[in-house]
Amino acid sequence: MKRFQCHCGQEVFFENRRCQRCGRHLGYDPQRGTMVALAQRGGDGWWCEENGVAYRLCGNRLNYGVCNGLVEVGDSNPLCVACRLNRTIPNISIPQNLERWGRIEQAKRRLIYGLLELGLPLEAPVAGYPRGLSFDFLEDQRSNPAVPQEFVTTGHFKGVITLNVLEADDVQRVWQRELSSERYRTVLGHFRHESGHYYFELLVPDRQGFMALFGDPGQPYGQALQRYYNQGALAGWENDYISAYASAHPIEDWAECFAHYLHMLDTLETAAARGIIVPLSDVEPIDRLLQRWDTLAVSVNELNRSLGLQDAYPFVVTPAVADKLRFVDAAIGRYEAVPT
Ligand SMILES: [Zn+2]
Ligand SMILES: [Zn+2]
Ligand SMILES: [Zn+2]
Repeated sequence: MKRFQCHCGQEVFFENRRCQRCGRHLGYDPQRGTMVALAQRGGDGWWCEENGVAYRLCGNRLNYGVCNGLVEVGDSNPLCVACRLNRTIPNISIPQNLERWGRIEQAKRRLIYGLLELGLPLEAPVAGYPRGLSFDFLEDQRSNPAVPQEFVTTGHFKGVITLNVLEADDVQRVWQRELSSERYRTVLGHFRHESGHYYFELLVPDRQGFMALFGDPGQPYGQALQRYYNQGALAGWENDYISAYASAHPIEDWAECFAHYLHMLDTLETAAARGIIVPLSDVEPIDRLLQRWDTLAVSVNELNRSLGLQDAYPFVVTPAVADKLRFVDAAIGRYEAVPT
């Protein structure tokens, strides 16, 4: 994440809606990739003070207070680029759901920040573009006995990313993490993983190179997942996979690697922006990124241990995993090179 400043000079953050120092309203402009300080100038419009660009606040901020995205005034959609991808929002007649939804949107905006920085397509499905991306935030009977679904699983199917809103509850998520013997479970991690499934079709049209590294994506999926849940990860998975779950199926391995690629880029960018590491160039080669990530990830874990916390990045990027991250990098690079 980059660093941002209010018009008054105060440092402000990606999640902020108000400057602590001068009280100006803040919002994120996804087109320009920056936070902007706003001044209300009549009507229902909000205006960027510095350059006069007119914005509206995202409808999900005006109505529910769950977003800080901005919409350019000329845009007829009342929702920001992140919120317009929502197909199903949580049932906010249940009081806890508004807070859960706010946490979900915060993580989703950070996902979208990363995807936009990579130049990946980000459109809701419409008549002319049925391959778009959308989100369902659903409850099951564990959080709401009135809904028909007994169990909602977080996942991706045909462009729809489903997240169980319970994942926004820390206690529930950590409980689920322990139950699944996972080392890491966050809402942002879910989004990065599931978006990997979505982009697979767009980024990996040629399966030959993929198969050499990840295996056959056509392997029966249901059987593979059943095997993983019954018997656990493949023996010796630590050498070839970033996580135990990645060994369940080649497509899960890809989604995990895609998520880790986004983790790596965002964390490196944050560290560079804050002067913890030397700045990244715009075309930092993947080998150099991997090298720098190797050092930074250890430092981040050591910092956490100094504070008595668990490792922030409890993973090891082995040479085999590094090859897969190189593949993800090349796939994203190739996509950018294709004129749309
Ligand atoms: Zn300010
Ligand atoms: Zn929004
Ligand atoms: Zn998956």
